[in-house]
Amino acid sequence: MAAGMGTRFGSMTEDIPKGFIPAGDRPMVLRSIETLKACGIERIIIGTGYHKEKYESLAQEIPCVECVFSPRFAETNSMYTLYHCRECIGDDDFLLLESDLVFEPRAITELLACSEPDVMLITPVTKFQDQYYVESDAEGRLTRCSVHREEVNAKGELVGIHKLSHVFYKRMCEDYEQQLPGADKLGYEYQLLRMSQSVMPVHVHCASHLHWYEIDDAQDLAFAEKHVIPFLPTKLNDMNIKRNVLLNPGPATTTDTVKMAQVVPDICPREKEFAGMMKQLRSDLLKVVHAPSDRYTSVLFCGSGTINIDICLNSLLPEGKKVLVVNNGAYSTRAVEICQYYGLPHIDLKSSVYEPAPLDAVEQALNENPDIALVYTTHHETGTGVLNPIREIGALAHAHGAIFVTDTTSSLGMIPLDVVKDNVDFCMASAQKGLMAMTGLSFIIGNERVIRESKDYPRRSYYCNLYLQYDFFERTGEMHFTPPVQTIYATIQALKEYFAEGEEAKFARHHRVYEALHDGLDQLGFQTVIKREWESGLVVSVLYPNDENWNFERVHDYCYEHGFTIYPGKISTTNTFRLCSLGAIDTPDIEAFFVVLRDALVATGVSIPIRY
Ligand code: PLP
Repeated sequence: MAAGMGTRFGSMTEDIPKGFIPAGDRPMVLRSIETLKACGIERIIIGTGYHKEKYESLAQEIPCVECVFSPRFAETNSMYTLYHCRECIGDDDFLLLESDLVFEPRAITELLACSEPDVMLITPVTKFQDQYYVESDAEGRLTRCSVHREEVNAKGELVGIHKLSHVFYKRMCEDYEQQLPGADKLGYEYQLLRMSQSVMPVHVHCASHLHWYEIDDAQDLAFAEKHVIPFLPTKLNDMNIKRNVLLNPGPATTTDTVKMAQVVPDICPREKEFAGMMKQLRSDLLKVVHAPSDRYTSVLFCGSGTINIDICLNSLLPEGKKVLVVNNGAYSTRAVEICQYYGLPHIDLKSSVYEPAPLDAVEQALNENPDIALVYTTHHETGTGVLNPIREIGALAHAHGAIFVTDTTSSLGMIPLDVVKDNVDFCMASAQKGLMAMTGLSFIIGNERVIRESKDYPRRSYYCNLYLQYDFFERTGEMHFTPPVQTIYATIQALKEYFAEGEEAKFARHHRVYEALHDGLDQLGFQTVIKREWESGLVVSVLYPNDENWNFERVHDYCYEHGFTIYPGKISTTNTFRLCSLGAIDTPDIEAFFVVLRDALVATGVSIPIRY
């Protein structure tokens, strides 16, 4: 629908209708047409008004576009224009959308996939002005809408994209005719509500983690360009990728744009163009952890996250010195094993896996062992969900003249980290967790002076040496050996999206997903293992029920078949499974997950509430 005047844009809409305002590199209407075509829509009807000639020339250029002019556009509203299109629409079911929207293709594919014939698309409430709040009943039928949040029990906010059947539309128009001429100024969303309340239900579909924006003025446009357009695909050839919700601790659910970023022309990674991309990537990684570029550098490796642990430990220990591994979980135990494999002198400072590492024991070990040159711990012990006090451990290491290395594989990009304030000399991650990119790329961010000094430390590995890789990057701009080319493209897109979402907003999203996980577990009666105040907010370890019918594999398989992945626990002394809040997911995914989990429990005969 494109009949409006677009006056809030001032001079920007003097000569063009609102839909022609460029958002990013293309007018909004062109973006919408391209997206609709990519989603298989074959006919596009535009209800026109203000500067109709612009749309008419577009229709000349794009064969699937037709226009219907609404002559009274200036004194009527959107329902009138929609009503005016009835002959052109004929007996087809159709999608109805606004001309001033930018949105991901998933808005369309999810609506098309809904089994209900008449559907209003909403998303969780995120914007701060101009929303249209939508309420639905237990069956998901539209019951109430309002621009005032306090008037409704809002399930979400209207996007401005609907799917309507021709049967519904016919009755909608008949009903509207009865109200004319008094209803000239009715917005069609109110007519949809009226229909749903008294004639035929409209179902509400809440899309999770959907990027979209309604652009009403220059401020909206600026917001959309910064926070939404980076998530919109530039290539639209095959966007119908099944969306799985991964509740395992990584690899995490990714956006379609990150998936698609890997489909690129073949390139030899020894080209200057590729080296230039890696240079930018290395510098963007520093920004994620607020590392000043005059003191820190990032070094990329081809491999899974464990390669970082291996590299830091074998490369950063001077001759005759010791590693202190502050060990309260499976990932620090992995670091101990690496020390054992390389024969590195080390202390395995073990403590309870259920609690954060004890600072007094760290201090005592440092006091008793002046030859400790490297203190190591895991920031977020992914096996349990316990978060360690790295700032304090780093301070103790520095006070004793040691460097501090921390495994931030399952926290970086999700829990804000500031390497300077947090006393971190080296941190690490792989691209597929917090950054929501793909597997195969890992990176270490660390103190450049220490890396240079490590040139003279014993060389314990050829492939996995930090100085060698750093030096090769510095001299050539390239990885020493073949990089994971497509994963690097995906990571560049993922970082673009990371900065568009913003550190605080992303942290808040992971946290609300985590809260939703706890709420859902509480409602079913599940017990969790770690004290809430010690949890990272990214992993919840759930105790197995004491129920003879409980079978993790069967519950997992049921959830998997319905698009949700749950994960086994990693605590050797307690039977647990894990639910995680990583990835491009949001609370509606968790609500949908608990519907499936409940069904899985019923199907496998597990008692609800859960028995212990
Ligand atoms: N460290 C931590 C804390 C992790 O959570 C993981 C993966 O789950 C890793 C390291 C690396 O594991 P991988 O080599 O399987 O990527």
